[in-house]
Amino acid sequence: MSGIFGEVSNENCIEDLFYGAFYNQHRAQYYCGLALGLEGKLENHNHRGLIKPMFPKEIRKEMKCTSGLGSVASDRQPVSELACFGGMILGFDGNIINYVDLKDKLIKQGKTFSGYHAPEEISDAVLVSKIIAGESKFEKGVGNLFELIEGDFAIAALTKDGIYAARGWGRKPLILGKKDGSYSVSSESNSFVNTGFEIIRDVSPGEVVFINKDGIHEIKKFSLSGIKYGTFEWIYTAHPASVIDKVSVVEVRKKIGRALAKRYPIEADVVSGIPNSGRWHGVGYALESGIPYQEVFVRFDYSDRSFTPREKEDRDEEGKRKLIVLEKIVRGMRVVIVDDSIVRGTQSQNQTGKLKEKKAKEVHARIACPPLMAACKYGKTTREDEECIARRMSIEEIKETRGLDSLGYATIEDLEESIGYPREKLCLECWSC
Ligand code: SF4
Repeated sequence: MSGIFGEVSNENCIEDLFYGAFYNQHRAQYYCGLALGLEGKLENHNHRGLIKPMFPKEIRKEMKCTSGLGSVASDRQPVSELACFGGMILGFDGNIINYVDLKDKLIKQGKTFSGYHAPEEISDAVLVSKIIAGESKFEKGVGNLFELIEGDFAIAALTKDGIYAARGWGRKPLILGKKDGSYSVSSESNSFVNTGFEIIRDVSPGEVVFINKDGIHEIKKFSLSGIKYGTFEWIYTAHPASVIDKVSVVEVRKKIGRALAKRYPIEADVVSGIPNSGRWHGVGYALESGIPYQEVFVRFDYSDRSFTPREKEDRDEEGKRKLIVLEKIVRGMRVVIVDDSIVRGTQSQNQTGKLKEKKAKEVHARIACPPLMAACKYGKTTREDEECIARRMSIEEIKETRGLDSLGYATIEDLEESIGYPREKLCLECWSC
């Protein structure tokens, strides 16, 4: 996964650029970068690590730009390329499923790859930039992506004249914003809130836009079949303050919580979301059921998102350590916990164990999506299909082995109703074998 933030401005925009990328940090934590455009010259700075420590104030004071691209990613980005239409620095969010075939095909055509990567590990971003760079125009290169790649993407590329941005089939969000004298593009609109931008609109699936000081220009619209929005963005991935394809993330989460309360009513004393991404689903459940909302776990502020470590053991360890139970709230109580999803079931087992250890009388779990059956093919994921507990256990068995008193999952109908798009427009591959 990656987060992208680009801006073109009338004045030095280094602070916007930094914070725009920073507010996308929940999307990826391994690499970060700032590409700067000033007076027709481009510079690319990228590092391994989180963007805040890698680009502290004293470093930013020495940077200046009137256009730029910020990136947070699971691989080194943004990438520099000398294209037929001039230099570009590109940020990429997505996944190329046919990466190996495509890389071999390009090598046979005489394309070569260089950069920071081990020779056999050229990133998707590098591959995409090569495909685009061979064309006389950026939008022609994007046309090649639609023909060649299996997968999905959102991209933005800084050039000396402005920023190009394009969106694939819809699974990866990309949104446009403006404020006095500046225009921006971002993976998520939560990055606009504290930087003073207002939303203009989403980049549509199949659309290529160009952003310069005069505004945002649609330069190409590919007519695509198979447009699908990334359902899991609303459930888990995106920040609650974001609005994706005109639909508010926090509102979707509350609606799913309400749907769970209607579908699986229960007598209980406390409802709690599992921080952070289960929180607003939990609020929705509490509002609908009338059961008071009180969080039974505090997430330790310095923990990572537990799905981000690359090794399974590290993910389990992070999952186990990040939540601290509040004994004073759970003792003697019938507790409903609401979470975004269950992958392997290790975290739910830990959570129920911690709650029962602190003398919760009952623990009921409500899950904001149907049982997960597959890893995502459209983003860099640490999950394997086989890891999904629902592939080998029934819901009843999951409930029993996790020590729960009851367990209920949201349905595809709940997702359709809460998001407001019919199932034909939603990617549902996580939930099918
Ligand atoms: S498979 Fe799941 S996580 Fe991946 S794009 Fe589709 S809905 Fe999102």
